[in-house]
Amino acid sequence: MKKNYQIASQLVLALLLTACSLPNDERNIYLKSVTADMQFLASDDLKGRLAGSSEITVAENYIAKQFQQAGLQPLKGLNSYKQSFTLHRYLPNKLKVNLNQKNIHAENIALAGSIRTISWNKESAKHIVIGKNDDLRSSLKSLNQQGENTIVLIDSTHQEMFAKYRNKFANGSQSLDSRAPAAIVLILTDETEINTIEVSASIDHQQQTLSNVIGVLPGKSKADEFVVFSAHHDHLGSQAADINGNSQDLIYNGANDDASGVTAVLNLARYYASPVNSSNNERSIMFVTFTAEESGLLGSSHFVNDIDADSITAMLNIEMIGKPSEFGAGTYWMTGYERSNLATILQQNLSANSNNAKQQIFADPYKKYGLFYRSDNASLAKLGVPAHSLSSTQMSNDHDYHQVSDEIATLDLEQMTTIINSIASASSSLIDGSDTPARIEKIVPRAQGLFFNPLKFQYIL
Ligand SMILES: [Zn+2]
Repeated sequence: MKKNYQIASQLVLALLLTACSLPNDERNIYLKSVTADMQFLASDDLKGRLAGSSEITVAENYIAKQFQQAGLQPLKGLNSYKQSFTLHRYLPNKLKVNLNQKNIHAENIALAGSIRTISWNKESAKHIVIGKNDDLRSSLKSLNQQGENTIVLIDSTHQEMFAKYRNKFANGSQSLDSRAPAAIVLILTDETEINTIEVSASIDHQQQTLSNVIGVLPGKSKADEFVVFSAHHDHLGSQAADINGNSQDLIYNGANDDASGVTAVLNLARYYASPVNSSNNERSIMFVTFTAEESGLLGSSHFVNDIDADSITAMLNIEMIGKPSEFGAGTYWMTGYERSNLATILQQNLSANSNNAKQQIFADPYKKYGLFYRSDNASLAKLGVPAHSLSSTQMSNDHDYHQVSDEIATLDLEQMTTIINSIASASSSLIDGSDTPARIEKIVPRAQGLFFNPLKFQYIL
């Protein structure tokens, strides 16, 4: 009797395990685990996860620990889950200019570059004049590529555009490489000749160590082909407290942007690495959370320097999936939908793996924002990887985007869990190696400036 009971209970257990491994089980990722990750990553303690802050390190350590506990391996060539790199920042200060025996007002001068100390006279730098009818923007763009010490006399009719450059230069510039020492000095003036000039200034150099976090689940038969799931773990930090020390909310928690995407990556990692679900990963799966997305896609820009883009079969970058899409809860949209056949493959898998064949993945309905180029997928897409971002947020009327109100309380974690399960199901034929999406058209990247970052700020999800 007892023995029969044991056999019966083993049979029930076996049936349960079989049920769990069936491809049409759509609930392998659970709300409890999603909620726990969200509460950690979006908590006030992490102070908005600003790149370069001590709090972002706490987030990175947490992500690395989850990758380790899931049983992932570090990326080949790294000895930990962190991929660290240096960001160089150059901040000009103390600029003074005397031109033709007259001191120029601080409002009419600007400096960009990387020389620590400047003490120039007429012979120290080349000179150019940008007259009334010249194109200021294209002249400066070309100087930015040449990288020579230059003094630029700008006709005062360009006052408005000059002021934009001056404000931009005052914020400094940043680079993933150490720049050779050089500088440009802009002077707004009606003088067109230099008889005498004295320029004195200094430029502070700062270096920050930033880290992406990467975990790999090696493929069983196609280990050199990678499917990447990614998100960005940085956000905007906190506002400075006002002088009255008042207790209003100052923290950009970034619950939706992009703790939600990171939570998806962590739960997908646990899902695929668990013994029940990982049996069909013929391809390797790489789980990546990027730093400094909000500062100009810096983490993913570094990531592509160190990797063979041709080895990446597809990238699903996950951004802001905490709120229901305009197509209904549990559905989501893809940036650059028409640029590859990845969405078609994902939707086919969803239809095949489910009794519910209705469309769950839609084309980005907010094309006017150019979102395809504004998140980390762009760094890989430029190299031809079918790399897209998945999101559900209604970007045209989201009042919490890049606000201190981007908190867990504004999100629907239940529908977010549905989306993560859907992404797992949609990716099945990429993971088992039976589908390979077409490459997308490569884009020649815009040249990095040698003095300043491009004037146009990147608006980044
Ligand atoms: Zn984002």
